[in-house]
Amino acid sequence: MPKDGTQHLEALRDGREIYINGELVDDVTTHRAFRNSTRSIASLYDFQAAGDNVERMTFASPATGDRVNLQWRLPTCYEELAKRRQAIEAWNEVHFGFMGRAPDHVASTLVGFMMGIDLLEAHDPNRAAALRDYFAFVRDNDHYVTYVIVNPQGDRSKATSDQGDEFHTVAIVDEDSEGIVVKGAKMLGTATAMCNEVLVASLMPLQEGEERYAVTFAVPMNAKGLKQMCRRSYEENAASVFDNPLSSRFDENDAILYFDEVKVPWERVFALRDPEVCRALFHTAPGHAMQNYQSMIRLMVKMRFLVGVARMVAETTGIVNFPQVREKLGQLTSETQLIEALVHGMEAGARHGGSYLAPTRNAVISALVLAQQLYPKLITTIRELAGGGLIMLPSDVRDFANPELADLIHKTQKSSVYSPEDRVKVLKLAWDAVGSEFGSRHTTYEMFYAAPNFMNQTMAFDSYDWDRAMGMVERMLASYDLQDSLKEATSAR
Ligand SMILES: Cc1cc2nc3c(=O)[nH]c(=O)nc-3n(C[C@H](O)[C@H](O)[C@H](O)COP(=O)(O)OP(=O)(O)OC[C@H]3O[C@@H](n4cnc5c(N)ncnc54)[C@H](O)[C@@H]3O)c2cc1C
Repeated sequence: MPKDGTQHLEALRDGREIYINGELVDDVTTHRAFRNSTRSIASLYDFQAAGDNVERMTFASPATGDRVNLQWRLPTCYEELAKRRQAIEAWNEVHFGFMGRAPDHVASTLVGFMMGIDLLEAHDPNRAAALRDYFAFVRDNDHYVTYVIVNPQGDRSKATSDQGDEFHTVAIVDEDSEGIVVKGAKMLGTATAMCNEVLVASLMPLQEGEERYAVTFAVPMNAKGLKQMCRRSYEENAASVFDNPLSSRFDENDAILYFDEVKVPWERVFALRDPEVCRALFHTAPGHAMQNYQSMIRLMVKMRFLVGVARMVAETTGIVNFPQVREKLGQLTSETQLIEALVHGMEAGARHGGSYLAPTRNAVISALVLAQQLYPKLITTIRELAGGGLIMLPSDVRDFANPELADLIHKTQKSSVYSPEDRVKVLKLAWDAVGSEFGSRHTTYEMFYAAPNFMNQTMAFDSYDWDRAMGMVERMLASYDLQDSLKEATSAR
């Protein structure tokens, strides 16, 4: 049987060092800030282990023959790519696309690294062997891996080594026959509280002399010296599931990770002191393409859900038949279909790199550019459609238990299609998706999880097939000239 939820929860009780609200967390699976989100992740593993889902969601590991999630498969043809996507889509439907760093994200990065392992082999066979063994280890244990690949936001106008503390960003401090020692911070460890392992990488440009910041490795979350400083928990501050149906269950916390002289054995070091190799795993190998192709599958599911929320809000408040409202909803469905079409386009236009098939870098980057712009627009449209109804709501579920307030709720929460309870339920869900602290974090997440928009626009510029586009324009320009046109114009008179 594949890994199930109980196995996942048990593995999280491993002495990891997590801080929140000024305190060390004893057990992430029972703590008020994390217990529901860890259960949501566990439910993904229960889903893959349930009945017919085993066939739909898993495949036999080529090393052990045991069933592991399809996210670990390196697709060799369109059918395998599509089957893998269908499994990712089914998993994302469990959390409606709200868990951006669920296990399928970084598994996709590692699949992309493995598709391009030849480049690492050519650079350093020992590091390539480490990556191969690590991939087999996380795949065969169906481990949940997340990543931290961005340097903490200090002063972005200054170099990595010029932030006032040489260990502001993770750097190599020591190296011996057993491995390396690293020290410093990385942003932002989404879901690191509830995963098994973290991949640490260096993607940001470095200057000459800053090679010690160029390192790619992985450690278990209970590695000695690894500290997680979590942001405020929306789950802990949710009044109830009725009040905050999303915050209360799908709040994958984000943490600053600090590596306080963490020892990393050589078998977990994949690249070091070479910024180009660190970046090549993402951008020459299809690490970046595979991880963000997964992101677009997730966004496709999330947008379908949010379009459903938009329509349900419009039905609740009786505006759905106004032509202007139907136009707005039609715009939203078109944008949702656009993301869906981009996912299918990435698959149809996927290219072989050696034996493996992956979406092209340009297709994925273009999708990211558009998605980062569409998401905040979608959220604004839902706000526009809902008006003050998102705010004109009882303070929390306990108001229903007070007979006087319950009577007032029945008098004031009117809808032609829903009972007062259901009107409140729909609008509280909509607020949690678009306006609560959780909803607001989601807008920031979708805008930034894959770098700021301007950076993706620049990458889209760099990776576009300009020869083809400009070549056509050159062919057109070459088909006429000034002298011929002048002659033609003069003789015509
Ligand atoms: C909710 C959330 C979850 C995240 N989860 C993860 C995770 O799991 N793992 C991970 O590794 N990272 C994660 N990140 C980090 C994410 O990758 C970064 O936020 C992203 O790369 C942008 O970096 P930054 O936030 O430092 O913004 P900055 O680089 O500081 O950019 C902020 C803004 O500054 C301006 N700006 C910056 N540089 C320039 C420039 N050169 N020229 C012009 N304008 C500029 C732009 O307006 C830009 O939008 C997460 C981020 C968020 C918000």
